[in-house]
Amino acid sequence: MAAKPPASDPVQDAPQVVAPQHHAAGLPAVKHTLKMAREQMGVKRTALTLLRVNQKDGFDCPGCAWPEPEHRHAAEFCENGAKAVAEEATLRRVTPEFFAAHPVTDLAGRSGYWLGQQGRLTHPMYLAEGADRYEPVTWERAFDIIGEELTALASPDEAVFYTSGRTSNEAAFLYQLFAREFGTNNLPDCSNMCHESSGSALTETIGVGKGSVLLEDLYKADLIIVAGQNPGTNHPRMLSALEKAKAGGAKIISVNPLPEAGLEKFKNPQTPKGLTKGATLTDLFLQIRLGGDQALFRLLNKLILATDGATDEAFVAEHTHGFEAFAEAARAADWDETLKATGLSRADIERTLEMVLASRRTVVCWAMGLTQHKHSVPTIREVVNFLLLRGNIGRPGAGVCPVRGHSNVQGDRTMGIFERPAPAFLDALEKEFGFAPPREHGYDVVRAIRALRDGEAKVFFAMGGNFVSASPDTDVTEAAMRRARLTVHVSTKLNRSHTVTGARALILPTLGRTERDLQGSGEQFVTVEDSMGMVHASRGRLEPASRHLLSEPAIVTRLARRVLPGSALPWAEFEKDYATIRDRIAQVIPGFDDFNARVADPAGFALPHAPRDERRFPTATGKANFTAAPVEYPHLPKGRLLLQTLRSHDQYNTTIYGLDDRYRGIRNGRRVVLVNAEDAKDLDLAEGAYVDLVGEWSDGVERRAPGFRVVHYPTARGCAAAYYPETNVLVPLDATADTSNTPASKSVVVRLEQSRTD
Ligand code: SF4
Repeated sequence: MAAKPPASDPVQDAPQVVAPQHHAAGLPAVKHTLKMAREQMGVKRTALTLLRVNQKDGFDCPGCAWPEPEHRHAAEFCENGAKAVAEEATLRRVTPEFFAAHPVTDLAGRSGYWLGQQGRLTHPMYLAEGADRYEPVTWERAFDIIGEELTALASPDEAVFYTSGRTSNEAAFLYQLFAREFGTNNLPDCSNMCHESSGSALTETIGVGKGSVLLEDLYKADLIIVAGQNPGTNHPRMLSALEKAKAGGAKIISVNPLPEAGLEKFKNPQTPKGLTKGATLTDLFLQIRLGGDQALFRLLNKLILATDGATDEAFVAEHTHGFEAFAEAARAADWDETLKATGLSRADIERTLEMVLASRRTVVCWAMGLTQHKHSVPTIREVVNFLLLRGNIGRPGAGVCPVRGHSNVQGDRTMGIFERPAPAFLDALEKEFGFAPPREHGYDVVRAIRALRDGEAKVFFAMGGNFVSASPDTDVTEAAMRRARLTVHVSTKLNRSHTVTGARALILPTLGRTERDLQGSGEQFVTVEDSMGMVHASRGRLEPASRHLLSEPAIVTRLARRVLPGSALPWAEFEKDYATIRDRIAQVIPGFDDFNARVADPAGFALPHAPRDERRFPTATGKANFTAAPVEYPHLPKGRLLLQTLRSHDQYNTTIYGLDDRYRGIRNGRRVVLVNAEDAKDLDLAEGAYVDLVGEWSDGVERRAPGFRVVHYPTARGCAAAYYPETNVLVPLDATADTSNTPASKSVVVRLEQSRTD
């Protein structure tokens, strides 16, 4: 039997603090996984479902985008993947009766955790203008409502079509096709908020905005640098890959403001050693200040240049461009400035250099710790400089590895979910489908919020996700959403975004990854692309949570038929047989030739990557580009801290699975701020004191997150950390990374105001 959802919100403002852990996974993770899965799914369904996650004939984990190994265990999932599956395959249901009992004003007062615990949405629901309760609505009427609002717009550019990273390749391809035939490139996605900085930097420097390594490259590496990333919580099976790499002789340097349990030691529950001692992963921990990474890599580059024989001169001469300007900038790097920017010691950096020089094959992995600063794009470009210098791109065991956080976020971009599509992509669409797609760039996430705020966008359609909780500047974002004429969410579960609505609102319930997808031609599967560019099939087996659900491809095709009655595209055929969508993808997107045939291979196939496969760099210069940006790092006014927003271990993006952060020693609460004990002493903040976090930004607007408990924690000096989405309210909409426009959620200047002392 599955447990019932909590009837009321648990107390959340009295978190307890115990000592942080120094290892990840092990038996506690197995216990925790099974407990949570049983509560949501019951015993039998737990067994049936978890054994199919990430299997060759099963479904892709709806969690992160970490790739599957060639040889798979029977249990090929991590604790957080199991939680994601359990939340989707839950036996709990959110029915029309639930909505009758809970007006929107009531739901708006609930926590994200409580909303998520209620279970799967079962019916399309409609909130009429002026109403306070969602009512059930037929699918036909739902599409009519959307059609009424879309066709009433003065321009297609008054509509915004957002995508979250769970959407399959097939659904994403149809969705962008619909938006472009409708007439807009307003296709913001969750990538705008996470790895856009990686895409911007990599496209400019190596010509492909994706990582250049496969899983085997990690196993062949001599050195793996993991920077600004916490794989123990956010990509847990990466720990198995790191363990295997270490067993093969690799060294690991982790670069992070916080020590994270997963990078200290991994107790792999699949191995006997994992049940006892575990494996130490990190050889060298660089406890860097937030935003100091560009300075670190710049100095390392100077030191490499100054070491005889350390530069791969043949590679640089044959494959790169811009070396001289880069080398001049690197030689000017200053030790004192770097120590100030990074908070590291000279010995730390000298030890790092030794390890770098000892390595012939180096991989650099990173995540949001590098991508969410004002100077993130030049930071990642500096990482590329670092790798190019020693020929570490296009060589087995070496390369760039931006680790993606949502299961198909990379695939959605490949399918054309992008507000700034390349002309070649639009040309291919035009040739294949015979309509002229719009050429003007659309809105990314930040620009979409501004457009909604300013009344320039009136319809907001979200394919998945929890937009208001994921976005920065919560108050501004919520006010912007409320100005819309219509907000529509394609969702599996209830979340905060359903409670912050336009004048009219729709919730369209959809199938999850775990569920059987039956269409006119029979049972369908979908495909996804992982963080390393491998494409494979995903087949759900469970009966759908309700007979009223539609798949995402079906929702798009029916929407298109209602909104674009004159369309010559075979939308009904696409819905009936997803193979016909894949045939069209093969015609439009490079690398997908014979898509239907190749995806029949249970292991999937690798998309081509010119820098990795042939050391060919499709950039403007035809070479890999060295770059030479000025070094930047955050400057902190006296008495202030630099805050990073992050996830707890009981959290996946904006989905809150529970109220504990086991690895960091936080229990039963989320409103905590982690502060270095020395900083807390300087600021006169006792352990356990309650503070308001007050954001300081050049627009002079006071942004306040009240009632956080101070936890003394060994984070880098001057750097604090607290969970999102609670602290998104502190991230100004206009505080974004240069070039990529990604919210700068890892460098928020705050003051801590004591609020109560109990
Ligand atoms: S590592 Fe990521 S993809 Fe794999 S099981 Fe865990 S959450 Fe799912």
